[in-house]
Amino acid sequence: MKKHNFSAGPSILPQEVFEKTASAVLDFNGMGLSILEISHRSAAFLSVIEQARALTLELAGLNHDYEVLLLHGGASTQFLSVAYNLLNKKAAYINTGTWSDKAIKEAQAFGEVVVVASSKADGYRYIPKTFSVPKDADYLHITTNNTIYGTQYQTIPDTQVPLVADMSSDIFSRTLDYSKFSLIYAGAQKNLGASGVAMVIVKKDILGKVHRHIPSILDYQNQIKNESMFNTPATFAVYVNLLTLQWIKEQGGLQGMETKNQAKKTLLYTEVDRNPLIKGYAQKEDRSWMNVVFNLTDENMTSLFDDLCKQANISGIKGHRSIGGYRASIYNAMPIESVKVLVEVMQEFERKA
Ligand code: PLP
Repeated sequence: MKKHNFSAGPSILPQEVFEKTASAVLDFNGMGLSILEISHRSAAFLSVIEQARALTLELAGLNHDYEVLLLHGGASTQFLSVAYNLLNKKAAYINTGTWSDKAIKEAQAFGEVVVVASSKADGYRYIPKTFSVPKDADYLHITTNNTIYGTQYQTIPDTQVPLVADMSSDIFSRTLDYSKFSLIYAGAQKNLGASGVAMVIVKKDILGKVHRHIPSILDYQNQIKNESMFNTPATFAVYVNLLTLQWIKEQGGLQGMETKNQAKKTLLYTEVDRNPLIKGYAQKEDRSWMNVVFNLTDENMTSLFDDLCKQANISGIKGHRSIGGYRASIYNAMPIESVKVLVEVMQEFERKA
């Protein structure tokens, strides 16, 4: 029996994606070959990667001022690629968690990094709202959803400088004006498919302005020229990415995702706030729709809560090792039925404690 998978990533994928993937692993498009064994230069695979890139732009509502890249190395490689390609002298960063902090550390090797706001002193429980970005900064970098602490930007800040975002854990989960961003990146393993590929959406006019040598594989302009095929792409992960994007479109696109995600997060946070034995981690106005982070008010009750989760077939709910507690990741593919099961477990926990 399939579990209710609340894992933070790699995480739950839509059932339809599994079924199509399984079939393509055995025989892709009736070719008599597996998706795992066809050349990245074959017409069949070129069609896969082209469709994935086009559908990404379509879902984001962006035009051809932007390019989509599907690259190796996860979001973590983008921490340095962004700086390599965009940071001439100075860049501004907002520190809202471990992943922002890692991005900041990578960028420091390339120039002056101004951390214009940080919620670190308060355990990253909120999203800073007031900050001032130096006019001469090459870009402002934000992390739209903070996977570990369960905070998320509810509104995207306005800036005079190009806006760069790590959207690894909330990409395509809601409607947004994507044209506010000059560059977006995301590891695929939460809302975009399987691990092994990172998606980058970049506005072409911000490129070509730095004066350093950029290693070919990290050079966005080189990757654009080579259509993400400077070397062998992660063909399997790109295929799963395409299936996941198609599924999002079938669900009504980003508006469809937003409606479903709103219902799920409302259901879960309502119980977190009602239940006297459970306490949410993040400040209410900044709560993530994707990662619901909470603690038990009495840690001695941990084994009872864990047992109830296990009996209900719930998996992957343990908090990140750095802050402990619990984290229920309710990404796009998570059905509301599984969220209902977790809410029932929380209620049973209250009755039995
Ligand atoms: N950024 C965010 C917001 C994340 O949640 C993660 C991983 O969970 C990363 C970056 C790192 O991603 P990767 O493992 O693809 O390098």
